[in-house]
This record gives sequence, C-alpha cells and structure tokens, in this order.
Amino acid sequence: MANEYSADVVVVGTGVVGCLVAEHMLDAGLSVLMLEAGPRVDRWRIVENYRNLPPSLRLHFDAPYPPKPWAPHLESRTDAEAAEYLQLEGPDARAFRQGYVRYAGGATWHWAGICWRMVPDDFRLKTLYGVGRDWAFDYHVLEPYYTRAEYAMGVCGPADPALQWPPIRSKPYPMGPLPFGPGEQRFTEAAARLGLKNLPAPQARNSGVSYHGRPPCCGNNNCFPVCPIAAKYDAASALPKIEAKGGRILANAVVYRIETDAKHSVQAVHYFDPDKASHRVTARVFVIACNSIETPKLLLLSKDEHNPNGVANSSDQVGRNMMDQPKLIAEVTLAEPLWTGVGPVQNSSIMNTSQGDFRSRYSGAMIRMENFARSGIGGAAALKKGLVGKALDAEIRRLSACTARLTIEHEPLPQAQNRVTLSSKKDWLGINKPNIYNDVGDYVRRSAKEYTVPLLRRLAAELGATDFQLSTEFLNSDHIMGGCIMGADPATSVVDVDCRSHDHHNLFLPGGAAMTTGGSGNSTITMAALALKAADGIVDQLKHG
Ligand SMILES: Cc1cc2nc3c(=O)[nH]c(=O)nc-3n(C[C@H](O)[C@H](O)[C@H](O)COP(=O)(O)OP(=O)(O)OC[C@H]3O[C@@H](n4cnc5c(N)ncnc54)[C@H](O)[C@@H]3O)c2cc1C
Ligand code: SF4
Repeated sequence: MANEYSADVVVVGTGVVGCLVAEHMLDAGLSVLMLEAGPRVDRWRIVENYRNLPPSLRLHFDAPYPPKPWAPHLESRTDAEAAEYLQLEGPDARAFRQGYVRYAGGATWHWAGICWRMVPDDFRLKTLYGVGRDWAFDYHVLEPYYTRAEYAMGVCGPADPALQWPPIRSKPYPMGPLPFGPGEQRFTEAAARLGLKNLPAPQARNSGVSYHGRPPCCGNNNCFPVCPIAAKYDAASALPKIEAKGGRILANAVVYRIETDAKHSVQAVHYFDPDKASHRVTARVFVIACNSIETPKLLLLSKDEHNPNGVANSSDQVGRNMMDQPKLIAEVTLAEPLWTGVGPVQNSSIMNTSQGDFRSRYSGAMIRMENFARSGIGGAAALKKGLVGKALDAEIRRLSACTARLTIEHEPLPQAQNRVTLSSKKDWLGINKPNIYNDVGDYVRRSAKEYTVPLLRRLAAELGATDFQLSTEFLNSDHIMGGCIMGADPATSVVDVDCRSHDHHNLFLPGGAAMTTGGSGNSTITMAALALKAADGIVDQLKHG
C-alpha cells in the first residue's frame, strides 16, 4: 500500500458540493486534493454518447454515462440492471431509485438546474407543526450562503419580489429570469384561475448573458441528459478552474475507508485505483462529499476497532433519515395544442402549495408542468400504434403538441427507518453495495390522497385535459437528502451546524446528507449553501483553531 499524496484538505467527490468546498479552500490559500471515483470525461464525449444512443434509450438520462466497473451507479434502462447496484427495499422502494452518476462532476451533469431555496417555515417543522425536526439554525443563518451559492453557480431569477420564493434575499439574483414558453404561459393562466401562482424558477442557467465564462442558454431543451454548451451550471465546468487555482484532481480513485486514530482524529483515507491497488492519502482536514447515499455508505464501510458502528456514527444515525421528495406524475392529453419544449426542460413551479397549517397533518408539495419537448415520448407512442407515412407524422405532431406531464413533489419527513445500510452484495472492487429501505410514510400518503392529487386533477381540467393518467406509485425526484443528519445534540445527530462530524473534529460531511428536513423544492441549492457554510468552518478551524 502506497502513501502517495497529502494536502491541507482532501475532498472526496467532485460533484457540486465537493467543488464549491475545494474552490473556497484554494481561495483561502490551502492546498487541496480531490479524489473522484468515476472517470473524467470531456463534454463532447457525453454529447457524442447521447447522439449515438438508439432512440429507445434517449429518454434514459443516465444512458450517455455508462458506469465503469470500479464506480457503478444505477442504470435505469432495465429494472434488472438497476437492481444490480442500488439494493432497494420497503413499501416504496421504487421511490428511491436514484439516478446519480459516478463521473467527475457528479449528478449536475444531467440535473435540471432548478434552485428553489427552502423558506423560513421549512426550518421549523417541529415547532410550527409538531412533525419532523427543527434545524439547528434558522433561514437567516443560511441566507448569505444561499446568495453566495447562487453567485458561485450562476443562478438566474426574477428581480420582482412578488415572483420570488421566498422574497427574503440579501442580494438580487446574478441574472434575470428566462422567459416562459407558450405551454408554460397557458399553464400559468390555468393555475391563476384556481388561485395558484406559477413562478419563474430560479435556475443555474445563464439567461441572456455569459457568466463565469459559460455562454447564455439558447433554449434548445437538451438539459437532460447534458447541456452541450455548458449554459447550465454543472460541476464538470468547475474542475478546470480548481486546477487553475492549484488544486489536484485524481479521477478513478474510489475511496473505501476512512482511518481514524484512538483519539478520533481522521488520519487518512484509502482508495482503490482501477487496477485494484490500494493507496493511502493523508491531510489535515477531510471532506466527504460523495452524495447522501455514497457518503453514509463510506462511513459505514469504515467500521473498525475505534469506530465499532462505522465512522462518525456514535449516535447510530449514520444512514438514517434518508429523504427524497416522493413524486407523482400525470400524463395529460389536451384537445388543443399546448407546445411544451420551448426553453429549458424545467422553467417554473407552483410553490405556495408547499406551505400552510395543513402541514401538521400532511405534507406540502411543489407542483409544476414539465417543459421538456414531447417529441421523443410522442414519437415512441406513435410508432407503437403501428402508424406509417403521413399518419405517423400527424400523430407525432399531435402527441408532441397536445400532451404534457404534470408533476407533484411532496415534502418528506426525516424518518429513522428510512435507511442506507451495507448490502451483503459486493461490487467489482469487493465493496458492499448500498441497501436502502424506503417508506414514504403516512404524512406523504395523506397529502396525495386528500390534497395534492385532487388539486392536480382540477388543474389538469382547467388546462383543458381530456385524459389524465396518474402514476400508480411514488417515484424518485433525484433529490437525495439525509443520512448524516445535522443537529445540536450529538446523541441524535451526526454533524454540527458546519457539517463537522460530532465524533471527529477534522471530518466534514457537507451537502444533502446533512439536511435536517427536505422541503418541497429541488434541494441542491441548499446543499450548495451548506457546502459554503462548511467551507467557512474549515478555513476558520485550520487558520485559527
Ligand atoms: C436527472 C436529475 C435531475 C436533477 N435535477 C435537479 C434540479 O433541477 N434541481 C436540484 O436542486 N437538483 C437536481 N438534481 C439533484 C442534483 O443533481 C444533486 O442534488 C446534486 O448533484 C448533488 O451534488 P453532490 O455534490 O452532493 O453529489 P454528486 O453530484 O452525486 O457528486 C458526488 C461525487 O462523488 C463521487 N463519489 C461517490 N462515491 C465516491 C467514492 N467512494 N470515492 C470517491 N468519489 C466518490 C461521485 O462519483 C460523484 O462525482 C437532479 C438529479 C438528477 C439525477
Ligand atoms: S435549454 Fe439548451 S442551452 Fe439551455 S441549459 Fe438546456 S441544454 Fe443548455
């Protein structure tokens, strides 16, 4: 075993969370080494992979990112293959079928880029509604970090407070909002007739201007599975900047163990290279930013004589309180053309459905109409009907114009039984695969039954839907949270307010894993804000601690 590298700060994972922390460390004059399990691939290669896919795989967002044997992730193309990596169980196993990829740059390669902040009440669920947990701080503590994250990633959004969510901000968005397409305009009007406000989504996309050297969005609607021109932020575009500042990035380095000493100080991490050779890396501070499934998995894998339950796990909370926003979708057909697909794949949402006193009984939710072009889905459906020639053309056109997808994403509660553990099944390197138990819980089920689905039906009718096909089970939203829950009490939580492990002073676990509750909106901007707060904590500890 070689001991090859060391740095002030070792960051494991090159997703948005790892990259934001790394850049901040470098700006503070600290040396940084990033270890990344997956390969480092150029954007043109992903675009080519996508172009070369057979039509049947074009709607699988992960398909242009084939996993390497040493860095497996879920492959959505078949259930059988999916079962190969994520081992899912529980009454709502399907709702945790997460689509992250293990490539340098992480899941923002193929994210939608939507950046809703949580709002003040989301931080005080226990106090206000008697459910879930309160965060260890309130919205105002995180607000400056939300703003910094928006400027670091380049988030566009409205300047008018009446269109902001929440309208409590210390600075305007760095760029103005993107315009609505024709379908979204119609959806907004239908929602307004029901007293609902469809807001322009803040999103990590350049609106009309270049930002951080990336070009403006040209609205070609290819954001899933990759923005070919990097108008949408992804962490892959941050990697050259990190190197330009002196950071080192080692791809194909799969960290499998965190080593601590008898005094609970982290001494090293160990990684495998693709030849299955093991390496040991030392540092003063270690940041694990592998996402909310892979981070708890790594902590549990690191069980040894000093850490009998796994690293950072004296509370037995590592891996627990896993959350995603359980999603329901309705495919609707309309008599009149609606034309979604102009602009980015998501561009607006109804957010006021996420708040209210009803949260003592059932969850709030975000409701939106997806804005992706329907030609792929319409084309597949028309071909299935056996049509040819002009009849096929006409049907593809009708289905592209006159169909839409409406989506509900429900707020989850942190529940101890929703849990990542180590499966007895192992991957190519001999590392245990993650096993995940998921039950969306009655809080969400009641919401769907009494509140969100009836509301969605009314919304669809108002839009002019002649057909409404609701998903028969809860689905994943790909917003993985929990697993290293933040709290003030080390007996019931894993990390403190700076995402520092209660058990190990030089181990930081920033991002979604630390989130105490999940809210209804897309969660990455909260992960990014937590990353920057943790980064401040690390610099403070290394320079003054
Ligand atoms: C299809 C899709 C659409 C999405 N849309 C949105 C959206 O619109 N808005 C939103 O807020 N969120 C969205 N998300 C979620 C968003 O992409 C994630 O929340 C975000 O990317 C998480 O960032 P991260 O840095 O925590 O983790 P990741 O991006 O998962 O990065 C973790 C990195 O760690 C590496 N890694 C893992 N294990 C190891 C190991 N053992 N050793 C070394 N490295 C390791 C991985 O390879 C990866 O590069 C979407 C996700 C998907 C899949
Ligand atoms: S619409 Fe096109 S240019 Fe804009 S973010 Fe999506 S893929 Fe990139």
